[in-house]
Amino acid sequence: MKTDLSDSLYKEACDLFPGGVNSPVRAFKSIDSTPFVVKSADKAILEDFDGNKYIDYVLSWGPMVLGHRHPEVEKVVIEALSKGWTYGAPCENENLLGKKVKELFPSMEMMRFVNSGTEAVMGAIRLARGVTGKEIIIKCDGGYHGHSDGLLVSAGSGLATLGTSNSSGVPKEFASKTIVIPINDINALETAFKNYPDNIAAFILEPVNGNVGVIKPEADFLAQAKEICHKHNSKLIFDEVMCGFRASLGGAQGLYGVTPDITVLGKVIGGGFPVGAYGASRELMENIAPLGAVYQAGTLSGNPVAMAAGLKTLELLQNSENEKANQQMDKLEKGLLDIIKNLPCFYNRVGTMYSLFLTPGPIKNYQDVSKVDGSKFTKLHRSMLEKGVYLAPSAFEAGFMSSAHTDEQINLTLQAFEDSLKSIF
Ligand code: PLP
Repeated sequence: MKTDLSDSLYKEACDLFPGGVNSPVRAFKSIDSTPFVVKSADKAILEDFDGNKYIDYVLSWGPMVLGHRHPEVEKVVIEALSKGWTYGAPCENENLLGKKVKELFPSMEMMRFVNSGTEAVMGAIRLARGVTGKEIIIKCDGGYHGHSDGLLVSAGSGLATLGTSNSSGVPKEFASKTIVIPINDINALETAFKNYPDNIAAFILEPVNGNVGVIKPEADFLAQAKEICHKHNSKLIFDEVMCGFRASLGGAQGLYGVTPDITVLGKVIGGGFPVGAYGASRELMENIAPLGAVYQAGTLSGNPVAMAAGLKTLELLQNSENEKANQQMDKLEKGLLDIIKNLPCFYNRVGTMYSLFLTPGPIKNYQDVSKVDGSKFTKLHRSMLEKGVYLAPSAFEAGFMSSAHTDEQINLTLQAFEDSLKSIF
């Protein structure tokens, strides 16, 4: 496989950016490799500078649910550009996207658009703290909510005690405002509330945990979590940055029928442009500035181009593209399950997100995930890439399907999985 041009561009990038990238996982470090450099993308295909083509199951880490360069999205983006690309003043596209999001996520009676998932989570947490007057946040081990100080935290020494930061540069006082519990562990949640009965502002979780691979919520976990939060006058926050519009069109809350107090969205909502959102009941959202005392702002928030891309993406999903992406996911799933039926592998899927864990499973929490043999995944990734299939470059990431993946591409992917897994096990 020729990689000369990618290699030289990446070498140049290493002089400019830490690790040669602008987001760490792109550097392929956890699979002991270096990345290809993308020249262009179209539908389900990425092409690198050496002319290699890859069937893309990363899809910019989730947003490109229609595949790359969907012509109708491209059209509205170009139309929006011709009217100017940021005003720093209200525009109609904000209303149009806002109404569409509210239609799909009725619990978001009002919302605020921002520019990333990280930013949206920060707003949601400030809102929870602002309205409750409490400080501590509970999160799940293996849940990722962006790179803000208080959320880069792992479990402390005891169950349901205050956390410690897993990034340098985070004051320990910030980490000490976060408690980390295992996913799907209602007892741990109860213990956390018992330990700090008067100071927990919110429990934030990915209702379908996607950031260590796909982990489903166990029966009643979401509903029980809501009950416990409300018993203690705390807020339940669903971070649906990844699973929003993917678990179902109405996210995990639509799929499982449990609505949180505050919802966070990102990725798909901008159709590949930088958009995040947090939203809640009108009563809660009226606490956000300029109506209320919880301050949050953004120069480029709600810009007309990103709003147009997001709106068209959601409209197309609603029409038939979501169904199509799910049908394609069904086909990949059927083939994969057949391939792994006698292998020590575990497969999880919710909507258009999936994970193949190279361990027998079941995978119910982060502890289960940590049994995955990273060296096997490294071999799988390398082999798939050589066969023209791009999986996320880490054993601990979800895979994504788009409506642009063709049957032929799925069959090629399945053949690549079969051959690769045969050589690994
Ligand atoms: N929340 C979840 C569930 C995510 O998956 C991510 C990113 O992967 C974020 C928040 C952060 O979003 P962003 O990378 O847009 O800041």
